[in-house]
Amino acid sequence: MLQLDTSVQFVKGIGPQIAATLKEKRILTVEDLLFHLPFRYEDRLNPRSLNELVPGEMASVIAEVRGSTLLRTRSMPIFEMTVGQGTTAMKCLWFHGSYLEGKFKSGQMVALYGKVEPSRSTRAFKMIQPQFEILPDNPDDEAHLLEVGRITPVYESLGGSRLASRWIRRIIYSLLEELRGQIPETLPTPMLERLGLPVRESALRAVHFPPAGTPMSQLQASATPAHRRLIFEELFYLELGLDLKRRRLQQRPGFAFETNDQVREAIRQILPFHPTGAQKNALAEIVADMRRPSPMRRLLQGDVGSGKTIVALQAMLVAIENGYQAALMAPTEILATQHYLAVRKILERSSKRYRITLLTGSLDEAEKKLARRKIFHNQTDLVIGTHALIEEKVEFNNLGLVVVDEQHRFGVLQRFRLMKKPNACEPDVLVMTATPIPRSLALSLYGDLDLSVLDELPPGRTPIITRQVSDERAEDVWKLVRDEVKKGHQAYVVYPVIEGSKDDQPELDFAPPEPEPGPESRGQKGSKKSTSYKTKEKSLFEKPSLKSASDMYESLRATHLAGLRLGLLHGRLRPDDKEVVMRRFQRGDIDVLIATTVIEVGVDVPNASLMIIEHAERFGLAQLHQLRGRVGRGAAKSYCILMTSGRVSPAAEERLAAMVRTQNGFELAELDLQLRGPGEVFGTRQSGLPDFRVANLVRDRALLELAKSESARFIENPEGSEAERQKVRTRLKEAWQRRYGLVEAG
Ligand code: ADP
Ligand code: MG
Repeated sequence: MLQLDTSVQFVKGIGPQIAATLKEKRILTVEDLLFHLPFRYEDRLNPRSLNELVPGEMASVIAEVRGSTLLRTRSMPIFEMTVGQGTTAMKCLWFHGSYLEGKFKSGQMVALYGKVEPSRSTRAFKMIQPQFEILPDNPDDEAHLLEVGRITPVYESLGGSRLASRWIRRIIYSLLEELRGQIPETLPTPMLERLGLPVRESALRAVHFPPAGTPMSQLQASATPAHRRLIFEELFYLELGLDLKRRRLQQRPGFAFETNDQVREAIRQILPFHPTGAQKNALAEIVADMRRPSPMRRLLQGDVGSGKTIVALQAMLVAIENGYQAALMAPTEILATQHYLAVRKILERSSKRYRITLLTGSLDEAEKKLARRKIFHNQTDLVIGTHALIEEKVEFNNLGLVVVDEQHRFGVLQRFRLMKKPNACEPDVLVMTATPIPRSLALSLYGDLDLSVLDELPPGRTPIITRQVSDERAEDVWKLVRDEVKKGHQAYVVYPVIEGSKDDQPELDFAPPEPEPGPESRGQKGSKKSTSYKTKEKSLFEKPSLKSASDMYESLRATHLAGLRLGLLHGRLRPDDKEVVMRRFQRGDIDVLIATTVIEVGVDVPNASLMIIEHAERFGLAQLHQLRGRVGRGAAKSYCILMTSGRVSPAAEERLAAMVRTQNGFELAELDLQLRGPGEVFGTRQSGLPDFRVANLVRDRALLELAKSESARFIENPEGSEAERQKVRTRLKEAWQRRYGLVEAG
């Protein structure tokens, strides 16, 4: 008999072959399939008449195919189809539409969804690239009932046109029939009643096949009680897991560091400047945690340049002065090395001799072995290295504090692994991020972490002058570079690609091209959306040729920047070569660094006053902000020039305008969140952010808050029978293991 955890392979209509396709979409079980929710709905209960359409609106209509033809224009083939209702007709156009030839027959009924456009030639309306579905001929066909005469769910395809909406509808419909009365509840009944949320089974049913009368606007906004119920459930289990995790950790033994006069003197001695108020507060919060016997789990959030490093270093000295080891992990070799050099320099101010060890991939085996031995035998106080390296093989003698720099590169999952170090006591962990996650979101998402924020930049910084410039004015920009270098400053020039004009290189984090209604159905999740737009944009427009770091390095060296000392830095250089280039730039031996986004995170060269980003329209907001943060670190007036090339989409215009308007990371993050969704704000998929099935953190922030307070209530003051509570705990364990890959929840 079918159950929620039955493999989809055993569902009627799905065999091993389709199951394999579904697996790629991470649909393994019956439950996964039921949680493939419609991304929109069509009102085919009251279909719109062609006569009442209004230009500019998104509409769904049912009409009869009257005829179609493939127009071969000079730029592309366009498939044109005329549909009609009685005497009224409408045209539909699909660019590059050869694939539609022969698909429609006159007399067929089709459901169309798209934007209504005025049409000059016919006085009728037209739709460009509408989504369509050919309706079944035979009204007696059982499936017909799922297609018309109701509010019809529209799904993102699970595999080409075969596993598209119609197929999904049938499968889900029969699943829901077969499982009638057998979909177990996952939340305590009293909680549901108090919150006015429907039980799980009826919620699932209503989300797939909304009863007549459900307001369309609520459906499209995923705001029906049924939707809210499923979203709440997902967020509740996330929050519950985080909350329990945090509480459990609080009960584990940690180190209670002391801060006596000697410790205070040690951390005071190294300060090269007066800390900002924000730095003082953050350090006070961190030290208060460290003094407590329970393990610290704290997130230090501070915009680029806000001075996180020194705060971390002071915290590490507290651990070291207490006789423990500290570790600082960076996401890249460049950053680890930079930290090592900077930390060594700062610690020279101290009257003490601290022992620092650098551990990165480019050390040779013997050096690595030596480093590890020193760490194991407590012959080093402070270990600085790349995350991967320290994580993998290092055994500490008495690790007291771990600092993880630039957390958004690691993701939540790694963070959990890191915390399991074989030790009688749990080391304290400080995670640092420059991603200005809006506070409310941070609190809910990192519910297992405490939060300190550096919301103040060190004094003496002049604001960065940001300008958007078309690359037709490149001459002026290169002149600015020459002038800055003449003044003794340095510059970065950043390109989206390494060489050639391929835009498929892994280090890229392109912003999604602007949304336009596409010919195929598209998903509701940010990440999926961006891929389908991208494919589409490629097919619709000539692929723009992109300037690359390597090519421009050669070209600038020969022309506009001839005579200046140029360096080239990108992700495909060997690690030691990267380091050499970076060090030469840091020492001032390179005037202009031509690079890809590898320089994005954390690189600190205060003498650099100019950041030029070519193809700025191709970068995401978070990335632009990170890049700009590389300059304006010293006292000199700094510039950020956003050069654009060719057609700039409205969405890109909006990003660039925001960059020019403000330098406030939180403001930009808030906008980014709205434009792209949280997955992107956190640095795309590497973020390790849970991939929600139903929830959307931008849309569902209120439900996230509710889930957070309900999870606390469930732990402190649970409702429902013991059996129900046990069910929640079991479910939590499964959900966390399965969804977030975490073994320890429960
Ligand atoms: P981030 O938060 O981006 O990691 P850093 O720690 O690299 O920032 O600091 C950026 C720059 O600001 C560094 O050159 C650092 O020496 C300097 N800095 C940090 N704090 C202060 C301060 N309180 N006063 C003056 N300069 C500071
Ligand atoms: Mg930093």
